[in-house]
Amino acid sequence: MTPSARGKLLWRIADLIEAHVDELAELETLDQGKSFKTGRFGEIPASAEQFRYYAGFSTKILGQTIPTSIAYQPAGKQIFAYTTREPVGVVAAITPWNSPMLMAAMKLAPALAAGCTVVLKPAEETSLTAIRLGELMIEAGLPAGVVNIVTGFGEDVGAALTAHPDVDKVAFTGSTEVGKLIVRAAQGNLKKLTLELGGKSPAIILSDADMAIAIPGVSRGIFANSGQVCVAGSRIYAHRSVYDEVVDKLAATAGGMTLGHGLDPKVDLGPLVNRKQADRVAAFIDEGMSDGAEIAVGGRQEGETGAFYVPTVVTSVRPDMRMMREEIFGPVAAVTPFDEVEEALAFANDSPYGLAGSVWTRDLSSAHRVAAAVKAGTIWINCHSYFSPELPKGGHKQSGWGYENGGQGLENYLETKTVCAVI
Ligand code: ADP
Repeated sequence: MTPSARGKLLWRIADLIEAHVDELAELETLDQGKSFKTGRFGEIPASAEQFRYYAGFSTKILGQTIPTSIAYQPAGKQIFAYTTREPVGVVAAITPWNSPMLMAAMKLAPALAAGCTVVLKPAEETSLTAIRLGELMIEAGLPAGVVNIVTGFGEDVGAALTAHPDVDKVAFTGSTEVGKLIVRAAQGNLKKLTLELGGKSPAIILSDADMAIAIPGVSRGIFANSGQVCVAGSRIYAHRSVYDEVVDKLAATAGGMTLGHGLDPKVDLGPLVNRKQADRVAAFIDEGMSDGAEIAVGGRQEGETGAFYVPTVVTSVRPDMRMMREEIFGPVAAVTPFDEVEEALAFANDSPYGLAGSVWTRDLSSAHRVAAAVKAGTIWINCHSYFSPELPKGGHKQSGWGYENGGQGLENYLETKTVCAVI
């Protein structure tokens, strides 16, 4: 297929996603639990944008001609050298359950732009939008066999894909624990890997922060999608001069959120993906409370099935508590005071993760100094969880290998071939 034909195909897929935005958002809510508006106005349009963004790349994948300094060619001969870019081959894309459609789009769009074929395995909890996307891709004219969607559990279907000798690359988003299993499984044929793993992202609120922006921003950073977001700002460090205000206002925001069926338009937060996840969140909170943490608001499961977890603000947390070290993946904000910026940075960097973080201040110098000092793949200034296909996204430390989105996102699916000729 020509690069232009690939680009048109990706664009058609984007158009079809948009034409079915209500249906896909509804499917995501029924499957995952998230509020309809999160899918309808956020994740589903963002999935279409992934295809549009990479549609433009497919015609701009270029090699180079390279003048060389080699001097041992036969007398009278010259060297002519150039590179070409080739698709890496068969990609296994393995995606999580928090934002199923968007996570699939983030892998499919660049892989197809590069000319790869893909076997997509969505999370076992949330496979429906991937399957519907497969139907839309057929409708868009994708040739048979280019994208294959295989459902199933991680430990068998996922593991089989990551160990399969005919798979050239694994693009994975999920937990650090499973990421490490994939590294091991992939070693047989040394698959190329892109791993977008867990996070424990800090949000640092300096004394001069504009609270009218910081409170809703930090609150959205942790409570959106009920905290089931890899970059969720779960560790909030507030300067002591604004600490009480942050705790009070965050607790008021959390307490004012409406929980309920995701399809109800009044609802801010639906249930977590399942009861098991809500129980897991509850276990973190219970353990933290027995270790001395205090609940400012929330701290309980709700609903007939117990799958809801109410937005929760926790204080008196210590850096060694499990709730401060591990990814909870629930609507739980832990707020800690600090006196000096250096102390906040030490707290922020005291984590095996390095996925993202945010800083809230009116001071330009402080903002960029903090951005430079936090070890993480993305830093937001006066915002949190802002994403777009052109912004690279990836983890430092144990939050991953490689970057998705942008030009780097395409590179994940390309090999370089150097051709060096004596002419
Ligand atoms: P989460 O914590 O978001 O559930 P997981 O890392 O458990 O993340 O799962 C993310 C994806 O990885 C899912 O599609 C899941 O089925 C898959 N998965 C889980 N275990 C394995 C494994 N051993 N090998 C490959 N994929 C796996």
